Amino acid sequence: MVGAGTMGNGIAHVFAQHGWDVVLVDTSQEALDRAVKTIATNIEKLVKKGVGSRESGAGALARIKPSTSFDAVKGAEVLVEAATENPKIKFEIFATVSRLLTPDSILASNTSSISITELAKQTNNPARVIGMHFMNPVPVMKLVEVIRGLETSNNTVTRTEEIVRELEKIPVVVNDAPGFVSNRVLMPMINEAILCVQEGIATAEAVDQVMTLGMKHPLGPLALADLIGLDVCLAILEVMVAGFGDTKYRPARLLTEMVASGRLGRKSGVGFYVYRD
Ligand code: NAD
Repeated sequence: MVGAGTMGNGIAHVFAQHGWDVVLVDTSQEALDRAVKTIATNIEKLVKKGVGSRESGAGALARIKPSTSFDAVKGAEVLVEAATENPKIKFEIFATVSRLLTPDSILASNTSSISITELAKQTNNPARVIGMHFMNPVPVMKLVEVIRGLETSNNTVTRTEEIVRELEKIPVVVNDAPGFVSNRVLMPMINEAILCVQEGIATAEAVDQVMTLGMKHPLGPLALADLIGLDVCLAILEVMVAGFGDTKYRPARLLTEMVASGRLGRKSGVGFYVYRD
């Protein structure tokens, strides 16, 4: 697992919970420490809810080995990358790890929007590169959007679907395009919700209530944006504007300003709402 942020810790947790030995790599020791703490807390919460025993939880935690060195991924059967949503960062990671893996290893990205075909181009085995797009929060959400790049082989798709089912999740296979299906549909809705606040049409609470009470969404779009991370939402919209060349995906000015001021949602404690923990 490369990247130990919001998604990386959840993905590492789910693999370890299903018996996989996980190496968790991040360039930041602080992110690794935080990830291990979050996984331990989430395991504890699940045990309290009656999901798994204390022993199996401790076993899962023991199977996760944090590291700041990419060498730790050498020979991995499956590599899932969940680093920052930035093409340059991901291109470098894919070039590096493809030299460390075997020709049979699967090289998956959890990217929300970046082209799988372009990521594959950075590697020496594009047929083994695929999108494995987990949803947030990973231990809870059932869907994994599986993205087939132009060069992805049928074997890679089949093996990825098997792994997703082994993790007790449901794979849905789609083809490569900016934002795939999930964010192509979701991000314009979040952006419109932000524009409603920016234009003074409604408060964040009112926008979210319209969508939760009126459309039966479990979470309003602005609460969801806070959960995803406003920096991640901005990065996805920017990839979609560039990828489609269509300004309809242009991020709301309010979103850009909130990210610039460090209001990133839950992870920073403030977004459209204020979070205490
Ligand atoms: P995050 O900002 O919480 O975490 C990113 C992590 O990547 C950080 O810990 C950072 O230190 C690390 N990192 C940066 N450069 C690195 C490098 N070169 N090598 C190793 N680690 C590096 O981000 P996140 O929300 O976990 O998102 C990660 C990926 O998952 C992104 O591609 C994002 O689009 C995708 N994603 C996010 C969500 C969500 O709800 N947040 C949902 C689905 C997919």
